[in-house]
Amino acid sequence: MSRYDAIVLGVGGMGSAALYHLARRRLRVLGIERYNIPHEMGSSHGLTRIIRLAYYEHPAYVPLLRRAYELWRQLENTVQERLLIITGSIDASPADGEVFKGSKASCDIHHLPHEVLDHGELNARFPGYQLPQGIAAVYQPDGGFLLSERCIVAHVVAAQELGAEVHGQERVVGWEAMGHGVEVRTDRGHYSADRLVICSGAWGAKLVPALAPLAAPERQVLAWFQPTRPALFRVPVFPVFNMAVEEGRYYGFPIYGIPGFKVGRYHHLQQRVDPDQMDREVHRDDEEVLRRFTARYFPAAAGPTMSLKTCLFTNTPDEHFILDLHPELPQVCIAAGFSGHGFKFCSVVGEIMADLAQTGHSRHNLDLFSLQRFGHTTCAPSV
Ligand SMILES: Cc1cc2nc3c(=O)[nH]c(=O)nc-3n(C[C@H](O)[C@H](O)[C@H](O)COP(=O)(O)OP(=O)(O)OC[C@H]3O[C@@H](n4cnc5c(N)ncnc54)[C@H](O)[C@@H]3O)c2cc1C
Repeated sequence: MSRYDAIVLGVGGMGSAALYHLARRRLRVLGIERYNIPHEMGSSHGLTRIIRLAYYEHPAYVPLLRRAYELWRQLENTVQERLLIITGSIDASPADGEVFKGSKASCDIHHLPHEVLDHGELNARFPGYQLPQGIAAVYQPDGGFLLSERCIVAHVVAAQELGAEVHGQERVVGWEAMGHGVEVRTDRGHYSADRLVICSGAWGAKLVPALAPLAAPERQVLAWFQPTRPALFRVPVFPVFNMAVEEGRYYGFPIYGIPGFKVGRYHHLQQRVDPDQMDREVHRDDEEVLRRFTARYFPAAAGPTMSLKTCLFTNTPDEHFILDLHPELPQVCIAAGFSGHGFKFCSVVGEIMADLAQTGHSRHNLDLFSLQRFGHTTCAPSV
């Protein structure tokens, strides 16, 4: 049986970053991924993911975001590839709504450069937007998007350069504590390690059953619509957005990589799923939800459908992440429950997982992300 300092279970967004940061510390590390690297079955595909400093979800994310930006830029230098594109970001909602108020508060607390725009100022400055009266927006110039599959490839390639071993198309079927270390069983072999880093996304509860009530997979749908006026939706003139309106909370991107303005709705049709049984077809009612929103708020983007894809969120009860040691097995670290807003943090989560695996604690403040906040949890290993 091969032995490693650390095994990373799942080489998606978080696992690829953990692998890289462990390899950077000269640890002998193995990453195991059940699908291709990268693939379209999990949570990290669809070309792009928003990154932004203004963070209405909680101001405590801002220091992590600063470090995430720094690490993304370092990774770009390492692999000599552009991974992060700056467009500015818009967080919009009614002026007394959570998105506007939370975003503004995070900017004020952390002294982030920003501008407050009413609907008229926003529509005039970025004419792809046609928001109605009563909507207020925070414009933060550092927002933009990451090329998500390219980020995974970059982390994996950089980790391999440092000696990491990576196995695609190999499924972990179980793991158990063995003394102070772990043993991992796959459909191809057995491995042992001093540390196990679990980054298995929507499959978290299949590998740590006690995560079932804490990290619930949910079906999502993404659409790309070809604008009737594409010039309004190109990178230099169209900031990424998060927006809460009466139809729900939506996010969107300028045209990039493939044809079309990209749009999605948080918690789409609220369909909790088993990731191995999920309906991966996109249906007319999925598309209609996104088309209706686009036609009302971005009318010049609501042309013919270009692409439709399904994807998976994994939601915690409070929509904050789980970044912690296993409560009973300190040789096991867990990164789970990214609740639809995790990708921008992959770079810093990789660093945090390497900290936890190496020393049992992190230089970053992880209070918001502890398993203890949910009360007593027994994270028994899978059998
Ligand atoms: C439609 C959509 C839009 C989003 N938009 C944004 C956004 O704009 N900005 C943002 O920051 N975040 C966004 N997110 C959230 C973000 O993409 C996720 O939080 C992030 O991708 C989660 O990464 P992960 O590593 O946990 O999951 P994944 O990347 O899915 O990785 C988990 C990996 O574990 C592997 N695995 C599971 N079980 C096993 C096993 N038994 N053996 C081996 N391998 C296994 C899986 O195959 C997978 O590759 C969005 C998510 C979706 C779905």
